[in-house]
Amino acid sequence: MVSIAKKVGSIYLETDANSLYCQEKSLCYSMSMSEIIYPFIPEGRTIEYVPENNIFMKKARDFAKTNSLDKTMPGAAVVVKDSNVIGIGANGSIFHETNECVRVARRSESGKDYELCEGCHPKNHSEFSAIADADAKGHSTEGADLYLWGHWWCCEPCWKSIIQAKIKRVFLMKGSEILFNQKNPNNIIGTQFANDRE
Ligand SMILES: [Zn+2]
Ligand SMILES: [Zn+2]
Repeated sequence: MVSIAKKVGSIYLETDANSLYCQEKSLCYSMSMSEIIYPFIPEGRTIEYVPENNIFMKKARDFAKTNSLDKTMPGAAVVVKDSNVIGIGANGSIFHETNECVRVARRSESGKDYELCEGCHPKNHSEFSAIADADAKGHSTEGADLYLWGHWWCCEPCWKSIIQAKIKRVFLMKGSEILFNQKNPNNIIGTQFANDRE
């Protein structure tokens, strides 16, 4: 694994191909978003950020809470055009309830081998299912925006469907690279909805 130590202001960042660590969390959070190193991002594309109270981000979160079948990393995405939600989808599959995950058995790396497991297949990812929902409802996704809650990056097959759908901008929730990053010690994985009042 390639490890790079990089000085940003007064703090050092240690990065590898899959993660970004900060020695001091508070400083890390205030860093510019351009310092986030994603496991995958297509050439020429960027990810933008909105606060957690953004109406579309909230909608994605609510949808993940009630519809996601992924117990560890619940997620959902909404496709928005002219301020209207034209597609919505959550992640996960019932496959893992009765079958062993092929990727876990193979010890696949994060972001790899999705196609090899029926449960992990990209068709069960939030981005893909939100785009498919818009398609199924007869909406054109050209020029639309996508809001993703519950993950800190989009995998290669999902980016492929985002680009094919001619989606213009992709938004994540501010702080996703900490909150939803398995490699960040300050993540909230497993307690995503713990503070909700029922
Ligand atoms: Zn699987
Ligand atoms: Zn994906």
